[in-house]
Amino acid sequence: MLEYTGKDIYCDLVIPRKIDIRVVFESENVLAYHHTKPFWEHHVVVTPKQHIGSFLDLEFPSPIAKEILNTIKTIAADMQQKYGSCRILTNLGEYQDSKHLHFHIVHGTLLNQN
Ligand SMILES: [Zn+2]
Repeated sequence: MLEYTGKDIYCDLVIPRKIDIRVVFESENVLAYHHTKPFWEHHVVVTPKQHIGSFLDLEFPSPIAKEILNTIKTIAADMQQKYGSCRILTNLGEYQDSKHLHFHIVHGTLLNQN
């Protein structure tokens, strides 16, 4: 597969399923799946299906914010129960490679990136 060089892998590839993903949870509005190139041993990504640029573009309160946070909470609770700990993180600005809101829920060893 050619390396993706666009700015929104979620709208371009993940949500329309132009790449294979292993789904953890899916609803009409939210998708959670195992990262296709994980940075950590256990690495789940949670993203809204509608385009929201970043965490700073998410409005509170709103139905989508509530659903995203509930999804993160459920997956993080499951990861903590299985492995004892986890991290929840989202990136902004130059740290954010793909300009579509997404959260990483991770546990374990930081993997070598090729
Ligand atoms: Zn998008």
